[in-house]
Amino acid sequence: MTTKPLIHPSVDQGVVSGSGSFSGGTLACLCADNAVKVAVKSDVLHNHACGCSKCWKPAGATFAVIAVVPRDTVSITENGEKLAIVDESAAIQRHACTVCGTHLIGRIENKSHPFHGLDFVHAELFEEKGATPPSFAAFVSSIIEQGYDPAAMGAVRGRLEELGLSPYDCLSPPLMDAIATSVAKSKAA
Ligand SMILES: [Zn+2]
Ligand SMILES: [Zn+2]
Repeated sequence: MTTKPLIHPSVDQGVVSGSGSFSGGTLACLCADNAVKVAVKSDVLHNHACGCSKCWKPAGATFAVIAVVPRDTVSITENGEKLAIVDESAAIQRHACTVCGTHLIGRIENKSHPFHGLDFVHAELFEEKGATPPSFAAFVSSIIEQGYDPAAMGAVRGRLEELGLSPYDCLSPPLMDAIATSVAKSKAA
C-alpha cells in the first residue's frame, strides 16, 4: 500500500463540494476556551491550497487552505483581544490568536495593493459547513523551501491533480491576470 502525500486535513479524504448557497458564518480559532470568533457575511472567493511559508497551516498539513472575502463583510465578534498581527511589515497583515496560533484574518491596509478590500480567511475554521471548497493549489514549489523532499514533488502534484486542485507555482492564471491588470492600471494612472 502506498500512502498518498498529505495535502491538508480538509481535503485529504477528497474535496467536499460547497452547498452553492453558503452566505457566511462564524470563523473560530482552535482554543477550547474563549475562542476568537469572527463573523463573515459572505461565501469565500478564490479558495485554494497554498504552499507558501506565510499562510497558517494546521497540524498535519503540507498546504494551507486560504480564500478571500470582502473586507466589509468581516467583523470580530468574540475575544478579539487575543488577536495580534504576526508581521506588521508584511503586505498581508495576518491577525493570529496569541494562544493557539491560528490565523483568523489576513488584512491588506495598502490601498494600492491589487487585493485591497479583500480579507484572507481559512474556510476550514467556519463552524458551519457548505463554503465553496478550494479549486486550485498555489505556490506549490514553495513547500520545498520549508523542508519538503524535492524528490516527492511529482507525487504531491499528482495528488493535487487527483483532488482537482490544479497545481501552480505562483497563483492561478486568473489571479495572476488580475494582479497584472491592476499593475497596468496603476502604471497608466
Ligand atoms: Zn485561539
Ligand atoms: Zn500562502
